Amino acid sequence: MKIDLTNIPPDGKYIEFNFSPDWWNPDFKNDHIIGLSMPLSGWIKLHYFAKKVAVEGALSTTLKLRCDRCLEPYDKPLSTNFKFFLSVTPYAGDLDIKLSEEDLNLIFIDGNYLYIDQIIKEQIILNTPMKTICSVNCKGLCPVCGCNLNFETCSCAKKLNTIK
Ligand SMILES: [Zn+2]
Ligand SMILES: [Zn+2]
Repeated sequence: MKIDLTNIPPDGKYIEFNFSPDWWNPDFKNDHIIGLSMPLSGWIKLHYFAKKVAVEGALSTTLKLRCDRCLEPYDKPLSTNFKFFLSVTPYAGDLDIKLSEEDLNLIFIDGNYLYIDQIIKEQIILNTPMKTICSVNCKGLCPVCGCNLNFETCSCAKKLNTIK
């Protein structure tokens, strides 16, 4: 889904979106996010504000994350709002899109087009914690035999103790 930034009406452009879980592309590489467990829905609005484009929106879905400790997938609801500005300056009759300080990571602009999917993906990643834990009580994997200590018990810890 792309929007021509040279063609935003004076009262702005409003788009609602609704993606099925398979929208999440495995190419969107992120170690923690496996995919979506629920459809993704939300809206985005673009309008000119002085010489900038204001981008506002909201999204909600349920993420399927991988636990850092036990490596099992788990669901985490996500609901977030966002707002930022893109700096644009007229150049040779065309728009020259400049990166604003707030957004150094503008992978979602190509020429005069703004890629909505990339903005949404970026927001999802920004709202995913650096450390993903399925539960504060997650026992993780045994460092010796690799079994999931949430579901299994092993005698590795005992053996280690007897060696000491
Ligand atoms: Zn876990
Ligand atoms: Zn073990």
